[in-house]
Amino acid sequence: PDVVNKIAAGEIIVAPVHALKELVENAVDAGSTSLEILVKDGGLKMLQITDNGGGIEKEDLEILCVRHTTSKISTFEDLSSIATYGFRGEALASISHIAHLTVTTKTKDSPIAWRAHYLDGKLVPAKPGQSAEPKGVAGRQGTQITVEDLFFNVPTRRRAFRSYADEFNKIIDMAGRYAIHCKGVGFTCKKAGEASNALSVQMQATVIDRIRQIHGSNVANELIELSVSDDRWGFSANGYVTNANYHIKKTTLLLFINHRCVESTTMKKALEQTYSVFLPKGGHPFIYLSLEIDPARVDVNVHPTKREVHFLNEEEVIQAICQKIELELATVDT
Ligand code: ADP
Ligand code: MG
Repeated sequence: PDVVNKIAAGEIIVAPVHALKELVENAVDAGSTSLEILVKDGGLKMLQITDNGGGIEKEDLEILCVRHTTSKISTFEDLSSIATYGFRGEALASISHIAHLTVTTKTKDSPIAWRAHYLDGKLVPAKPGQSAEPKGVAGRQGTQITVEDLFFNVPTRRRAFRSYADEFNKIIDMAGRYAIHCKGVGFTCKKAGEASNALSVQMQATVIDRIRQIHGSNVANELIELSVSDDRWGFSANGYVTNANYHIKKTTLLLFINHRCVESTTMKKALEQTYSVFLPKGGHPFIYLSLEIDPARVDVNVHPTKREVHFLNEEEVIQAICQKIELELATVDT
């Protein structure tokens, strides 16, 4: 069973960035307004996220890393939202099978913080011979999750990484996507041992400010606000897209469906097609889109290894969005 667990974990978490995405989503789900990310050796040596969210109850720590432990499905109707978020209660369990995991957490009502260490889904002592029970420590409200030595027990995977810089860039890219999407949340991300942040967004920053911080003024100054919805297809879409004055060599698509960052090749192709009429040859847009779709319409069979997402009436939804963009591009004078 342990081998099976490791294989399953290795399918969900293929690179440090996949662990980061899960941890960021958890921190945001916990109602955090501040999220600090610390990275060592591209996330392979260490990945640490400190949030100021609701924290985890001490009683819940024992089973925290047991597969299917989740506080997010409480009613039968909620089960339909599995579609939105992929498999539930898999992330921490998976990470604990391929890394050393440390959780320090404090709820509002707890007088102290609790620290627990995990391996293979179970509580383990900090050092051999010590107790595996969570230990009371000083700390502020919120949760700090530290993932160390990712893939230490999966040598083939560990050897597959070519450079720490590549992995760090993927982490910064993903953190930047969530930093743009999560209004009301401050984000920082830095390499361990460095004084300055590689990414920094203030809690109060607007979406345009966030895009400016991360992608620069060239993009931020050329954005059109977008808002489309259609009850027939059960969706609404909001976001910012660049106008016909702006173009880059490669399309940047930040796509969120029900607040999860996802990939959609179909959507990307359609958007590129729409822009190709307005941009010079070889020029591409920057697009940030937040789609809300009735969870019952998002593909329930989406497997965590597949970042690619599909939903009902995909063609109609994409067409509606592209038509609106087309209209905006044609009317905004250039
Ligand atoms: P899921 O997010 O699908 O519920 P995870 O394995 O990602 O599964 O997390 C398991 C549970 O641990 C969550 O449901 C939540 O209750 C708790 N949890 C994880 N991270 C945090 C956090 N940063 N703050 C508060 N609770 C957390
Ligand atoms: Mg999660």
